[in-house]
Amino acid sequence: MYELEAEALLARLRWPETIQCPCCGHDSGYTLNIRNVQRRRYKCKKCRRQFSVTKGTILEGVRAPLSCWVATVKWACAQGTTAQRPCDLCERVGVGPRAADNAITRLFYAQNRDPLRSLILANSPSKMCITKALTERLCLQGLNWEHVLTALLQTSPPNAPKP
Ligand SMILES: [Zn+2]
Repeated sequence: MYELEAEALLARLRWPETIQCPCCGHDSGYTLNIRNVQRRRYKCKKCRRQFSVTKGTILEGVRAPLSCWVATVKWACAQGTTAQRPCDLCERVGVGPRAADNAITRLFYAQNRDPLRSLILANSPSKMCITKALTERLCLQGLNWEHVLTALLQTSPPNAPKP
């Protein structure tokens, strides 16, 4: 998957109707046409700030290409994925060890918070068992990967100021 395709997918999941500004919440964002950028930029008509599709989300500031993130989430959601350590991710998705470690850390953080936590619990046959497992392993197997990506885009980064 090419980078712009992955970016477009995330934009569609984050803003199914109109592009909402992560800075002021206004829904009049538009796409900027800038050449030679790796990630598409957006601009708010109201506060005039520029932002990316990951701004204000758990994926903000990730170094790995967004296409790697899409692949990582697909991998973590795949049925029959048993081992879920950073080294498995390096092998399956082809990301470097630091990026893999970072991806796993962010997924762990997100799965202990809503809306991903609710999504996992709603799809789990045994809530007691899964609540304990959430802190120990990734619990994304069998989930719809588009739903998981959407949940990640609704999760704030760990050190974000409260809105
Ligand atoms: Zn704005």
